[in-house]
Amino acid sequence: MAPAALAMALALVAAAPAETLTVNGKDYVAACARDVRLTVDERSGIYTLADGERRYSLVPGFDVARVNGRTVYLEGPVLFRDGELIVPAGLFARPAAARAAAADGTIPLRKVVLDAGHGGQDCGALGPGRVREKDITLSVARRLKTLLEARGVEVVMTRTGDRYVPLLDRSELANQSGADLFLSIHCNACPSGDVSGVETFALSWSITDLTRAQKAAARLSPDDLLDGASRRVSRGAEQAIFSAYLGEQRRQSLDLARSIQAELAGKLAEADRGVKVKNLSVLRETYVPAALAEVGFITYPDTEDKMRSVAWRQKIAEALAAGLGRYARGESVRIERIAGTAARPAQLAGR
Ligand SMILES: [Zn+2]
Repeated sequence: MAPAALAMALALVAAAPAETLTVNGKDYVAACARDVRLTVDERSGIYTLADGERRYSLVPGFDVARVNGRTVYLEGPVLFRDGELIVPAGLFARPAAARAAAADGTIPLRKVVLDAGHGGQDCGALGPGRVREKDITLSVARRLKTLLEARGVEVVMTRTGDRYVPLLDRSELANQSGADLFLSIHCNACPSGDVSGVETFALSWSITDLTRAQKAAARLSPDDLLDGASRRVSRGAEQAIFSAYLGEQRRQSLDLARSIQAELAGKLAEADRGVKVKNLSVLRETYVPAALAEVGFITYPDTEDKMRSVAWRQKIAEALAAGLGRYARGESVRIERIAGTAARPAQLAGR
């Protein structure tokens, strides 16, 4: 917990049964209408509720919470009402492991955005046998869409055909879609043609969450989600809220990248180049958990040959689906080393 100067602890005990309020058609209860302890970290803006068995981390204005370290999605945003923190009633009704594996094989995700890299006049990387990255990424994304939909996940595609879509538009679609995560699919390239393997990217630490929050607060202000009292929060407080939110999003993005990388390297039996971090536009501008998978080196003749086959592209899609399933079930793997990207091939520039 933060030092005393940063944290204010309030012990609150419910005197009466929880009273249900209706806000925007949804049931809410006071966060403290139970036998819980509420603390707030004034620096990060994260509220923590703890009772005997569960610990809830909440950020006002957002419909995401952590319950015993697991992410849960709420029916509506955490709000202030008459100076009191209120939460969607379903929060306390949920089992702690709300996103545990479903027995029927469905993936416990509601909605994902799939981004087939490049498109239109932007062909991406080119293999020695003229296979184009933009065609492979679209084929894999379409196959992954089919797999996910069959498992009960709604899929939004940044492009469904051979079309150029600006990077910011791809992020914006993810930000406005209400999706649980964003996955960008690419093929790697190396001019010498002798490098192979798979790797997955998450956002670099070279850009801080506060820097992103300052931009996000301007673009994605939660004002319209909050009632009058909270609308008076200062720009600084607002940035702190976003910063806390983005810090959480960054942790989830790393989990996502680790899960995808484990399945890509395992299922494709390709060289495991690891999870890496880089300040990529498509990750930096996206405010839901986001990762970029490099599903193989198109410049490696053997890999290019495999990518020509439907069966291999299907296998890539299946590995990515398994990665998303692993992430959704909270089974992200621990990877000791997050590699730097100094020797990154030039193809990634401008992404
Ligand atoms: Zn690419």
